[in-house]
Amino acid sequence: MARYIFVTGGVVSSLGKGLSSASLAYLLKSRGFKVRVRKMDPYLNVDPGTMSPFQHGEVFVTDDGAETDLDLGHYERFTEISSKQSDNITTGKIYSDIIKKERKGKYLGKTVQVIPHVTDRIKEFIKGDIKDEDFVICEIGGTVGDIESLPFLEAIRQFSNDIGKSKTLFIHLTLVPFLKSSDEIKTKPTQHSVKELRSIGIQPDIVICRSQKSIPFDQRRKISLFCNVPIDNVIETVDVRTIYEAPISFYNEKLDKQVLKFFKIKSKKSANLKPWKKITKTVLQNKKQVNIAIIGKYVNLKDAYKSLDEALTHGGISNNVKINLIRIESDKLKTNQINKELKKVSAILIPGGFGKRGTEGKISAINFARIKKIPFLGICFGMQMAVIEFARNVLKIKKAGSTEFNTNCFPLIGLIDEWNKNGKIIKGTRKDLGGTMRLGLYEAKLKHNSMIKNIYKSVSIKERHRHRYEVNNNLKNKFEEKGMIFSGMSPDNKLPEIIELKNHPWFVGVQFHPEFKSRPLSPHPLFSSFIKAAKNYK
Ligand code: GLN
Repeated sequence: MARYIFVTGGVVSSLGKGLSSASLAYLLKSRGFKVRVRKMDPYLNVDPGTMSPFQHGEVFVTDDGAETDLDLGHYERFTEISSKQSDNITTGKIYSDIIKKERKGKYLGKTVQVIPHVTDRIKEFIKGDIKDEDFVICEIGGTVGDIESLPFLEAIRQFSNDIGKSKTLFIHLTLVPFLKSSDEIKTKPTQHSVKELRSIGIQPDIVICRSQKSIPFDQRRKISLFCNVPIDNVIETVDVRTIYEAPISFYNEKLDKQVLKFFKIKSKKSANLKPWKKITKTVLQNKKQVNIAIIGKYVNLKDAYKSLDEALTHGGISNNVKINLIRIESDKLKTNQINKELKKVSAILIPGGFGKRGTEGKISAINFARIKKIPFLGICFGMQMAVIEFARNVLKIKKAGSTEFNTNCFPLIGLIDEWNKNGKIIKGTRKDLGGTMRLGLYEAKLKHNSMIKNIYKSVSIKERHRHRYEVNNNLKNKFEEKGMIFSGMSPDNKLPEIIELKNHPWFVGVQFHPEFKSRPLSPHPLFSSFIKAAKNYK
């Protein structure tokens, strides 16, 4: 039977609950246990799909097409277990399910209430779609004390009673600040946060203390005493030099050992830290650096391209180089400044994006990469812009554009209301923006003798998608005659999935998001190849 581990946070947000959950999941998995990691988000959006990356960072996409919180990306990258639709839920989704049910009269005349109906739905999520997992780690978004978190905390409290206290473990992550002026580590915020948690009936079993400095024994004892937690279960997490050190740091603090001790479970084998030690060393020791320009709308918010930043780092790991990301805001990139701005870069990347703002800057940068033969990778919107650039400047279709932002253009990129998935026709709907894109894994067939086939070393691949518009296939022959090859197509040959340039050392556009499948311990071949090209460029 599965054991459940709930991870809550206190004092402030962004303490690294996701990374802590992911690291614990890795440690338990490498000890031979079957693990699942899930996230509950207290906001009212049904999913983060319609949220601006400025607000909430990137939207992560799973194989089965869920648009989820970016923490699921951390889980996947650390555990190498693909997340599913059933691993992320929000208050919005819970309420929309409940309201749908209520409208159908399924509550048989009862008053629908937070307790028990909302809490029941949360408990259903926690144990739903679980088979033979040994551990289910559930992270609760937000911080204790937020109004939105309350139903989730109430639900996990009830859940522990329902299945038995010995089968549920509560981990609380808090901040232990260091005050420079008095040269002291302060435990009071942690005490208050745990007090808040206890006031709703949850006694943490383990407290993880995020701190700038190592916490002296006396302070640990104080936390143990005031928070009613055994001293061995006061775990510190001091800022690491790279996130790949996190599993090592939690292992040294015996987090996994204490979890197993709590559940009275014997480890199947010892945790394997070798791969993390190896890549930590590589990341910290790499001296050679390549400059990669990333040109997008949200570059100033670090989390907006989280998986992409990670995938580029993974590409750097496989090539023994450090990645220096030069983040350029696309709408500030003026055509006459391109030469100056992109002078020092070894490669150019245009990530996914939506809407008109900044498109002309992106197109100019692509033109520069194509003509100067600088390695270029266009992802999703980036590929669409690369096709437009080529059509305008090589095929001389001056009005070539995307109907996403110009309805009067020559519709080289347009809406497809129907497409083929597993033989079924799926109708796209233009009414709602949420959840109506082409989402999740789709297959692409790769052309013989293409660069992309060489990179993937396969003729068929499956990658994750998240887009509404498609490259119009009607001009395929014209493009190919002039050197832009449609080297990856959907199995029915209708939708261009990958483009590449014949007379260019490395110029690739992909309609999907390869970054979601890259992992530090198994870097994605496309990113390894892209960084290799950048390394060889200059
Ligand atoms: N806006 C484009 C579309 O919807 C591209 C989306 C993306 O880059 N993820 O097709």
